[in-house]
This record gives sequence, C-alpha cells and structure tokens, in this order.
Amino acid sequence: MVQQDNATHHSMQQQPVTVIGAGIAGAWHALLLAEAGFAVKLHERSGPAMAQAASHWAGGMLAPYCEAEGSEPTITRLGERSLALWREQVPEARFQGSLVVAHARDRADYERFARMTINHRRLGVEDIDEIEPSLDGRFREALFFPDEGHVEPRRVLPQIFDRIRAAGGAIEFHSEQQAKDTPGIVIDCRGLAARDTFPDLRGVKGEEIIVETGEIELSRPVRLMHPRWPLYIIPREDNRFMIGATSIEREDSGVSVRSALELLSAAYAVHPAFAEARIVEIGSGLRPAFPDNLPRIAIEGQRIAVNGLYRHGFLLAPALAELTLGYLQRGAIDNEVMQCA
Ligand SMILES: Cc1cc2nc3c(=O)[nH]c(=O)nc-3n(C[C@H](O)[C@H](O)[C@H](O)COP(=O)(O)OP(=O)(O)OC[C@H]3O[C@@H](n4cnc5c(N)ncnc54)[C@H](O)[C@@H]3O)c2cc1C
Repeated sequence: MVQQDNATHHSMQQQPVTVIGAGIAGAWHALLLAEAGFAVKLHERSGPAMAQAASHWAGGMLAPYCEAEGSEPTITRLGERSLALWREQVPEARFQGSLVVAHARDRADYERFARMTINHRRLGVEDIDEIEPSLDGRFREALFFPDEGHVEPRRVLPQIFDRIRAAGGAIEFHSEQQAKDTPGIVIDCRGLAARDTFPDLRGVKGEEIIVETGEIELSRPVRLMHPRWPLYIIPREDNRFMIGATSIEREDSGVSVRSALELLSAAYAVHPAFAEARIVEIGSGLRPAFPDNLPRIAIEGQRIAVNGLYRHGFLLAPALAELTLGYLQRGAIDNEVMQCA
C-alpha cells in the first residue's frame, strides 16, 4: 500500500460524488463514501428490483477460504477484509460457515480442495449431523469453514440502500448516467455495461435454479464437489434454496437443459427430498470479468472505475469500496488492484 498524502486528496472530500450503477459494487461504494461524509448520489438505470444487475442473480456466498481453491491470493486477502466489513455494517449477513461435501467417486477432488484451502475443519458423520441434521448421515465426512458467511442478494441490496439513505446519500432509479458526461468525482460501477471504458471486459454466464421445500432445513451453504463447476445449495428465507451455479464462457441469457439437469441432480444428490421441491425460478446472470478474472480499480483523475468482480462481487465489494475511500481520503494506492492512468 502506497500513501500519497497531498492537498488534492484533501480537497476531493469536499466534492460531490456520483456513483453509477447500484449493483453490489456501487451500493458498497455509495455506503462507505456517504458514511465518510461525501455528498453521494447513486444512479441506477433500472428499477429497485435491480433485474439488470449481475448482483440480482448471485448466490451471495461470502467465502474467501473456499474460493482460494481456484482463485489468486488477492481474492482471499480482500475477501477476509470484506467479511469484517459485512459483520460491522450489515447485521442481516449470516455467519454460519460453509460446508463442503463429496460423493465417494469425487474423493480425489475433495482431498485436493482440502489441500488448496485454509481455515477449515474435517467433520465426521456425527459432527455433520449436529450442525446440519437434514443431511441425515448421507455424507461420511465434510469440510467445515466456520468463518464464512452468506447473504441473500435480493434482500440485502435494499437493506444497503436504506443504510445509504440513512447516511445522507441519495439514490435515483431509472436514471441512466454516462460516466464521461458527469462532472465531479465519478465512481463508475456499471458492471458489464462499462465496455466503453474496459474493452477487455467479458460476461461469464452463471445459471441458477431456486426451489422451495419444507422437507429440508439447511443453516449454511453446502458445496458439492463436481468435476466442472463449484455447485452449491444456499438456504434462503421462506423454505427456498438457490442451486448454483454454472460458469460458461458465453454471453446469452438462457439456461440450457443440460445445465438445469446438472443443477437439479446436484441438489438431488445432496438430499433426495429435493426431488419433490417446487421449482420457483430458473435464471442466469452474466458475471463481469477481466481476462485475469481479478477485480480492477482504474483511476483517471476524478474518474474511478471499479469492475471485473467476476464470481466474487459480494465477497469483494466492501473491501474494494474501502480501498477507493482510502484513495479519495489519503491518496492510498493498493498496487494489486489499483491502476492509475
Ligand atoms: C449465478 C451467479 C452466482 C453468483 N454467486 C456469487 C456468490 O455467491 N458470491 C459472490 O461474491 N459473487 C457471486 N456472483 C458474482 C456477482 O454477482 C458479481 O460479481 C457482482 O454482481 C458484480 O457486481 P457489479 O456491481 O460489478 O455489477 P452489476 O451487479 O451488474 O451492477 C451493475 C449495475 O450498473 C447498472 N448500470 C449499467 N449502466 C448504467 C448506467 N449508464 N447508468 C446507471 N446504471 C447503470 C446496471 O443496471 C446494474 O444494476 C454470482 C454471479 C452469478 C451470475
């Protein structure tokens, strides 16, 4: 971290800030900046349902340790900081940990997962039964990551919006802003719509299914080892469960029969009672990603563009917002994610 303490940064704090895009990146930026005393206005082109945001489709897992299996150490570093910020700022976030299970045929993948990740405990049948009785002896062992959390994106975004307003910020929906036409400090969090600024952005499709059943109760996300995708089941309110998510290098918005079959089979493999569950939704979103799948904060004068949150938007948004705030207040630069023009 480099510090550039100078008068420019001091004077920045007096200026109004426009945040463009109210997905999870824009929401956390608006919140931390409003709380720090900036006059913040958050603009979102869609309505409060946020149907055009990748954030609308997300699982909402806050899992820096599980994600270490397939990600750079930067993700774990920023993710750990984000866990603390979620705990401080959003009491609705749940910290019940995550569970990773595997069938006997995927034993080698399971052991590899255990080797590549940290901060987990190995549980046997009885321990699993104690924390997730619904799993009912179906898995002989599991990895338990006690410090991880999860949020329900469609509930937590409105909660963050309320906090932004409580901190003095304003939010305008149905308000499409162009980053280049906006005066003052601009935080551009437009996700995949920011290809005019980042031509190397791509969308990585994630498909998900929401089902409802009163037969099963889970307290935390359960990940099932799968040869191609990290499949998981996340408990939601009202007896609902999100089954996710595929990761496909394509930018259409459909859900294929093959993906639906794989997601539903994964749920059935975790518990046969999912066979009787009611399907509530089948959908997909596009994760905004750079070629290295790492997030970027690009700074050009008063313009700061935050993007490429890929599979980790909920995990990384608080820490990225804190880095942006540190830059605006003190000129602090994080060399791993910040680029100055
Ligand atoms: C199926 C699926 C599961 C996922 N699960 C997880 C998970 O468990 N944990 C996790 O951390 N991440 C997860 N992700 C990833 C996460 O959803 C993304 O990383 C994150 O949503 C990206 O957030 P964002 O704010 O950058 O972009 P977005 O959420 O896409 O928000 C961008 C917003 O900008 C608005 N906008 C665009 N242009 C303009 C304009 N000109 N003016 C005003 N508004 C504009 C858009 O309408 C949109 O609302 C998942 C993603 C998918 C698809």
